[in-house]
Amino acid sequence: MPSPPRPLTLDDFQPGSALRRRKTELRQARYPAIDFHTHLTFPNDAHYGVAVGERLNFLITPEAALDIMRQCNLRLLVDLTGGAGPELEAAVARFPAAHPGRFAVFTEPGWERAGEPGYARFQAEAIEQAYRAGARGLKVLKTLGLYLRDGGAPGPLVAVDDPRFDPMWEACAGLGIPAAIHTADPDAFFLPLDRFNERFEELSHHPDWSFHGAQWPEKRALLAARNRVFARHPRTRFVALHVANHPEDLDEVSALLDQFPNVSVDIAARINELGRQPRRARQFFDRYQDRILFGTDATPGQREMPQQIFGPELYRIYFRFLETEDEYFDYAPVAVPPQGRWRIYGLGLPDSILRKVYFENAARLLGVD
Ligand SMILES: [Zn+2]
Repeated sequence: MPSPPRPLTLDDFQPGSALRRRKTELRQARYPAIDFHTHLTFPNDAHYGVAVGERLNFLITPEAALDIMRQCNLRLLVDLTGGAGPELEAAVARFPAAHPGRFAVFTEPGWERAGEPGYARFQAEAIEQAYRAGARGLKVLKTLGLYLRDGGAPGPLVAVDDPRFDPMWEACAGLGIPAAIHTADPDAFFLPLDRFNERFEELSHHPDWSFHGAQWPEKRALLAARNRVFARHPRTRFVALHVANHPEDLDEVSALLDQFPNVSVDIAARINELGRQPRRARQFFDRYQDRILFGTDATPGQREMPQQIFGPELYRIYFRFLETEDEYFDYAPVAVPPQGRWRIYGLGLPDSILRKVYFENAARLLGVD
């Protein structure tokens, strides 16, 4: 009698699938696409710190990015994390100014001054300066709500709807540029890190990504504060990144979009969620086809998040998800699914919706042809 196999650790369990299924190879997007969510540059203080603008890391050359764009039929990349001040100017010079029509760079708030008197006005003016320097939008990371503290640690977290940012949101409206905001994180990151957590594997490799516990705000409270910002600034066009950071509950995101006509969403790094509920996701795309943006969260050079590795492999998964009705495929270019052990199904969107999602909706927000 054969002896039973030795116990496997979760990491060692990498089953293949016996399912015979169609694999459509799409090398390019059907229409010249705008990726609304990339990180070609990133502030050096990396981990959602506060010193934006001190030093910006350039993660890729424009030439290398353009080569991938040509291979995949990408018309324009939005670099959301362009920092501020002289660093922003350097990013603009290197990307959009040198290659018009192919790149757009967003600015970020200078959090380090948030505790100083007069910050509200300073930050509104900084947005105007950034616009004059070539920034085409504002990006707010989850710094706001989860990292930025009054007086630094261990001071209290600054709320997403803190009124000292009101002039900043209004400045975006005045300039006609979008404000892209990342608030909170996947539901699993706010749940106990135990055997019932569907992203146990990922979180066990990155325990610092967990926001579970009394020291953190509840996800619900973070999203509610964000939504109060949407309500308070109806003239500002917001992009609630990562499917408003709640693709686990498309009913809730639908209610959000119904309530706030000034809000759009991108799908960056969330095809794992959308693709495991293809029928509900397809309804969502049908209904909100004018407010959904193609985006990936592609970040050159990083290794922590395989679902965001900038390159043709990543883009082709997105094209397959949006354009085909292929079934049960990997949402990231690695053997073990990084954001939960499941596979996804393509939406097979019609051309009319693909055009909107791939470029029309983003072009309108960015003010490009
Ligand atoms: Zn991102």
